[in-house]
Amino acid sequence: MQYLLRCQCGTDLHVTTSQAGDTVHCKACNSEVDVPRLRELKALPTVASEESTTLLDQPNAWRTWRGPTIALCAGALLVFGAYATWFSLQYLAVDRTHDTDFEIAYGNEAFDQYSPEELSLVWNNYEEVGIGQKQMPEYEKWQRYAEARKYLAIINGSIAGGFLLASLAIWISVRSANKKARKVE
Ligand SMILES: [Zn+2]
Repeated sequence: MQYLLRCQCGTDLHVTTSQAGDTVHCKACNSEVDVPRLRELKALPTVASEESTTLLDQPNAWRTWRGPTIALCAGALLVFGAYATWFSLQYLAVDRTHDTDFEIAYGNEAFDQYSPEELSLVWNNYEEVGIGQKQMPEYEKWQRYAEARKYLAIINGSIAGGFLLASLAIWISVRSANKKARKVE
C-alpha cells in the first residue's frame, strides 16, 4: 500500500509503510521530506484513493508566490474595473447631444424670431458685456466633463485589462506547474 505524503512544495510523494520514520527525496523542490511514523503514515491518503480525493491530493502551486500574486491582481482588477464602470456611467449620464452645433442652431433659430429692434438691443448688450468677459457656456463645461470621464474610463479599463491578463497568465502557469509536479512524483 502506497501513501501520499505532501511535501512543503505541494508535491505529493508516494511512500510505503517500510519507509515510516525515514526520509524521502522530493525531486520537485530537491528537499528531504520526513516520513511520519507508522501510525500517522496510515492516516495519510492512499494512492488508490487519489482519484476520489483529487482536491486534497493535488500538488498545489497556489501555495507558491502565485497564490498571493493572483489575489492582488484580482483585487486590483476589481478596483480598476469599478472605477472604469463608474466613469463610464458618469460619461453616459451627460447629455452629449447638446454640443456646439446644437447651440449655434439654437441661437440662429432664436435670432430669426427677433424683430430688428430686439436684435439691436441684443447687439448692444453683447457690446456692453464685451468679448473679454465671455464665459464658457454650460454645455461646453459638460462636454469637457464628459470627455474627461471618457478618458478616465479608458485608462482605468486598460489597467483593469492588464490585471485581467496577469491573472490569466498566473492561472495558466499554476495549471502547468501542477501538471508538472504530478509527473515528478
Ligand atoms: Zn518538494
